[in-house]
Amino acid sequence: MKTGLDALPGLLECMHCGLCLQSCPTYTETAAETDSPRGRLMLMRAVAEQRLAPADALPALNRCVLCRACEPACPSKVPYSDILHQHMELHATPSSGLSRWLNSSPRMKYVGKALRLARRCGLLRLAQILPHKKLRRAIAMVPQKPIFFRPPAGTVFPALGEQRGVVALHLGCVEAEFFGANIQDSIATLTAEGFQVVCPQQPSCCGAAAAHDAELESGCKSGHQTLQQLQGFDAIVVPAAGCAAFLNELDGNASALDPLIFLARVGLRNQLKPVRRKVVYATPCHRQNVLGDAPEMRAAILSIPGIELLESEESEMCCGAGGAAFLREPELTDAIGARKAKFLHHSGATQVISGNPGCALQLESKLRDRHANMKVIHPISLLRESLQV
Ligand code: SF4
Ligand code: SF4
Repeated sequence: MKTGLDALPGLLECMHCGLCLQSCPTYTETAAETDSPRGRLMLMRAVAEQRLAPADALPALNRCVLCRACEPACPSKVPYSDILHQHMELHATPSSGLSRWLNSSPRMKYVGKALRLARRCGLLRLAQILPHKKLRRAIAMVPQKPIFFRPPAGTVFPALGEQRGVVALHLGCVEAEFFGANIQDSIATLTAEGFQVVCPQQPSCCGAAAAHDAELESGCKSGHQTLQQLQGFDAIVVPAAGCAAFLNELDGNASALDPLIFLARVGLRNQLKPVRRKVVYATPCHRQNVLGDAPEMRAAILSIPGIELLESEESEMCCGAGGAAFLREPELTDAIGARKAKFLHHSGATQVISGNPGCALQLESKLRDRHANMKVIHPISLLRESLQV
């Protein structure tokens, strides 16, 4: 097994130019060098060269929200996230108790169910008096009206009219537990456009959450299991940008697509009705920095008649929901989320478009804190509205 600098290829490519600093949400918030990509790389280098104990680098590394905005900003193409994951693997960094506990797929399912019920009967309001700050923060993010929708494994939704193909739909964990309407909207639009939708047996989480929380091995195992189940169809449709990015990186041939982007690529056969609305797109970091199809998503949103797509300040900056930092670093991620919500609120839009459940949880909660009357919706929901299906 490689150790030291040999185990972290690309680390020495960092020339400390600082061109990545302004794209980093944690550095933007605190202006501390240790909260910057350059600072974190220097800490990992110091550990690799045995000048620093791994435990001393850990607090700064744990504050990274894994948005990966530093990667496209870097002229030397330093593979920041690969280096971070390798570092975490090498030093067997345990994730925080709460996030490690939550990262288990079956637990996520039961916790989701309990939180939905507690939200419905008003019990979550009592959470404000909990002494555990991280737990309080996690509970505050539960949507006001969570919708559960997880069709049983093997469910097939037939195409309407002449069939154009068969797609596999990935359901995800947070998406199915809290944002089931996105899955319903994906099914309604895909079937209306002539695609049979199959929901194959799949783990209740694709593993992205675990992989982003220093549980790379177990996360990749779930990811490969998920991909195996989604093979053999004309396309893999994944409403959650974070899951799509993880699955595509795990297997370069996977090509997991957002439902709106998939339909824009194959072309719509139904007439669209105008949806007269001012919206702002909160680009998920994984779409911007990993999948690279954010411009395609913007074009697909703009192709819906009547939509006015407004811009917000720092539109490409992370909302602070990435990785498991929101559980470990509630104060920092709260501040990043509040800043993002402020700019979205100031855009003049009435709706925020997001395509990732983690971002939607964070943005809804931060917009709520501002008493901003802005709903966060998935891009596919706009298309469903326009198709009137
Ligand atoms: S991944 Fe995001 S938060 Fe982490 S160092 Fe890079 S830009 Fe900063
Ligand atoms: S990571 Fe890239 S952009 Fe950032 S300081 Fe190093 S070389 Fe410069």
